Amino acid sequence: MKITQSEFIISAVRPSQYPVDALPEIALAGRSNVGKSSLINKLILRKNLARTSSQPGKTQQLNYYRVNDMVYFVDFPGYGYAKVSKTQRELFGQMIETYIRDREELKLQLLVIDMRHAPSKDDVLMYHWLKHYNVPTCIVCTKADKIPKGKWDKHVKVIKDTLEADPRDQIVMFSSETGLGREKLWEVISEAIGT
Ligand code: GDP
Repeated sequence: MKITQSEFIISAVRPSQYPVDALPEIALAGRSNVGKSSLINKLILRKNLARTSSQPGKTQQLNYYRVNDMVYFVDFPGYGYAKVSKTQRELFGQMIETYIRDREELKLQLLVIDMRHAPSKDDVLMYHWLKHYNVPTCIVCTKADKIPKGKWDKHVKVIKDTLEADPRDQIVMFSSETGLGREKLWEVISEAIGT
């Protein structure tokens, strides 16, 4: 994918702020610090467009980035951040569940998992929501550069087993450091948005 344009559009806190131009959307979910911002930056070859570790307390906003006037990346708030109140957690749940249930523009959800660790309870919950609402999902195992190649299969198996992953879901190994998986992930995205 040749990137000709990418820009930050909005931090949306309610559905009325979501874009209305009906471009397909690729959403990204994962724990805070998992590497979502780095992944977006790597995909679009920008150093700092997605704010790295953007304000972990802000649990109620979806960050929209438009790429090539063709697709939006929708970055969910990172979950699992300890200092978030119960109310904020509930609001997060409502916002995300509404989005994945109702947003017709959502064509593919990337569930981003740090390859070094087994998925958290929140990852499992998110994955089950995605399955429940039939959202096409790609599991992205990031920070692959931190694991020796010989151990990749073992780590991927733990991730699949913990999520009880649907064998039809794509799994992409990724590294924002080395660029591993970038081409593959663009292929998966292009297929999902029909380009
Ligand atoms: P976010 O909170 O999910 O947006 O996570 P960030 O993108 O801010 O990344 C959190 C930390 O992990 C930062 O210090 C990144 O430099 C680091 N990081 C992210 N992706 C990778 C990766 O693929 N490999 C390595 N080695 N570090 C990464």
